[in-house]
Amino acid sequence: MNEPRCEEHRHDLTCREICEFMMAFLDGELPPEERAVFEEHLSLCPPCVQYLDSYKKTIALGKQAMADPCGIDAPRPPVPDDLVKAILAARKKQA
Ligand SMILES: [Zn+2]
Repeated sequence: MNEPRCEEHRHDLTCREICEFMMAFLDGELPPEERAVFEEHLSLCPPCVQYLDSYKKTIALGKQAMADPCGIDAPRPPVPDDLVKAILAARKKQA
């Protein structure tokens, strides 16, 4: 096991719980008191800060991809028409 060791911090939240709350925290859905505990844990636990950071980046990338209007009209990968036909033909032969 190679979990961040936060027992020594004696927080109400463990790193595992922090990970579970991260989404709610970033969405601003945590009640203020839980948010305070969350932030206190982050202030004392660098591994969780790093995790939150990479989590944020992942979300930002996801939102970018979804919000990008070019993504909708972007050229699709060429459909391998001949390949599809070949597969269908092969199937017909088998059937
Ligand atoms: Zn932690």
